[in-house]
Amino acid sequence: MSIFDKCPICSTDCKGTGIGPLNQIYHIECPVCRAFRITTDAISGISPCTEHEKGLICGFVRGSHDRGLVVELRKTHIESIISGGPSDMLQKLDRLLVSLAKLTERLGQPLPLAPAERGLGYTINIYEFESQINNLIDLGYLNREHRTGADPTMVSVSVRGLDRVQKLRETRGWESNRAFVAMWFDGSMQHTYERGLKAGIEAAGYEAMRIDQIEHNDLIDDRIVAGLRECRFVVADYTNHRNGVYYEAGFAHGMGKTVIMCCREEDKTEIHFDINHRNFVLYESPEDLAQKLKVRILATVWAGDNYKPEQSRRSDSQ
Ligand SMILES: [Zn+2]
Repeated sequence: MSIFDKCPICSTDCKGTGIGPLNQIYHIECPVCRAFRITTDAISGISPCTEHEKGLICGFVRGSHDRGLVVELRKTHIESIISGGPSDMLQKLDRLLVSLAKLTERLGQPLPLAPAERGLGYTINIYEFESQINNLIDLGYLNREHRTGADPTMVSVSVRGLDRVQKLRETRGWESNRAFVAMWFDGSMQHTYERGLKAGIEAAGYEAMRIDQIEHNDLIDDRIVAGLRECRFVVADYTNHRNGVYYEAGFAHGMGKTVIMCCREEDKTEIHFDINHRNFVLYESPEDLAQKLKVRILATVWAGDNYKPEQSRRSDSQ
């Protein structure tokens, strides 16, 4: 039985079916966002979002789908998804260009850009998408492909566009497959790192990047800054409340990176009041952390290059 006929994210005609007990989760097949699952509380959480924010959620779901994952949107994940997306119009243009370059295997390869592809530009507005394409053409990053009988929105990525993508990959983290780990580097945390943080990050398809730096002063070490710039997202473990963790997480947040905050359950009362309202991954053991962290990464960052969807898709609905 179809429950929805309009996508709760982009309002396009779609097919939505209730699954699970009491229909509290819906499976949606949307021609723009592609396939995803959504809880009833997430539907009410998305409803008041701005068009810009809905575009970011649409881009996230579409990107996850392209990586072989059917995401399950929950209300608690929406804030992270929005904060991890492109923050302005120029960043949207860059991400669209990077997505198009990914689809390109040879120079001059025509890419059909129907309005249903607008999730690639993190927008739900077809006019904004059209304008993104026109601007990328004007900037010389895309060529319009004039072929007999070709769709007028047929474009290809130019040499200049590929060069731009190369530079973006070097300086921004979105294409990176690494997660920067900020934590208390103490011998007592070794199991938490190996069996919890690293295991969870790897299960979501990413590599864990750990820069051991026992103590540093207020000046952030160059290696840490480079690591924070290069990474796709940051996992910050607040157990024992080290100043360095607060500093690195804040620095990454300021750069617009997704920061996943974790803390051992028994330490949570000490979390600084500035951030204690945030949606922490609280854990009781390293194994518990690994499982919860993997689920959180898949829900708010999306699957990494090494993710194996067939083995774990069924258990990723937590
Ligand atoms: Zn949609």
